[in-house]
Amino acid sequence: MTEIVRGVALVTGGSRGIGAAAAVALAGDGWDVGISYRTQADDAAAVVAACEAVGRRAVAVRADVAEAEDIERMFGEVTDALGPIGAVINNAGIVTPSAKVADYDVERLEKVFRINTIGAFLVAGAAVRRMSTARGGSGGVIVNVSSRGAVLGSANEYVDYAGSKAAVDTLTIGLANEVAKEGIRVLGIRPGLIETDIHAEGRLERIGATPPLGRPGKAEEVAALIAFLASDRASYMTGSMVDVAGGR
Ligand code: NAD
Repeated sequence: MTEIVRGVALVTGGSRGIGAAAAVALAGDGWDVGISYRTQADDAAAVVAACEAVGRRAVAVRADVAEAEDIERMFGEVTDALGPIGAVINNAGIVTPSAKVADYDVERLEKVFRINTIGAFLVAGAAVRRMSTARGGSGGVIVNVSSRGAVLGSANEYVDYAGSKAAVDTLTIGLANEVAKEGIRVLGIRPGLIETDIHAEGRLERIGATPPLGRPGKAEEVAALIAFLASDRASYMTGSMVDVAGGR
């Protein structure tokens, strides 16, 4: 059987959760994979090993997506190690603690929008600068990780988080149109309740059975969608938001 080589994919926040599962799924699909992590070097090394175990090359780079210089360095280091990047999974993100809008302060709002929204815009911009055929690149795909909360609003929990992700939906649709003729597809996914460490203690136990499918999703179930959207099988898709939310 001929080996399929798909090029180089970069997954932000790839040290655990959905990002880690996406890195492994992409490696399984034939991509060499760069992952970024902020603090979890050991977890990142384990994800690199898992990608290498399926026969791909992989590298981990420390980078905070809230810092523009880190993002530039991250793209540079992954490109130097693996070659030109053809897929960017814009996944790094945080949630805020449950609270009412009336009780938010500026610090809380700045943090979540800085990472989830400004970070996502900066990563997408850096990806376009490198991949755009109008700028000497070879094209590629960007998959933005939003949230079902962007549509539902996440009342009584984190409306600010939902808003920071609604902007990621807008980024997806607007940027897709901006770069459609530059060889770049831009897609977004909206996970529902997925079993990862992002949730406050006890939350999954409390509301895990509430999605219509009766259970939380697994990171691998989100990763399968990411790998599909990044692949040529999704070649006629751009500017779409796809829910992976158990019917939520
Ligand atoms: P997670 O906490 O397990 O993983 C988040 C990853 O992002 C980690 O690797 C973390 O290090 C990284 N990260 C956080 N802040 C960063 C920063 N400033 N710079 C670089 N990396 C940073 O959570 P997850 O559930 O795997 O979340 C992945 C994405 O999926 C997030 O964007 C999240 O908002 C989104 N999402 C998750 C769910 C869910 O239920 N788990 C639902 C909807 C959307």
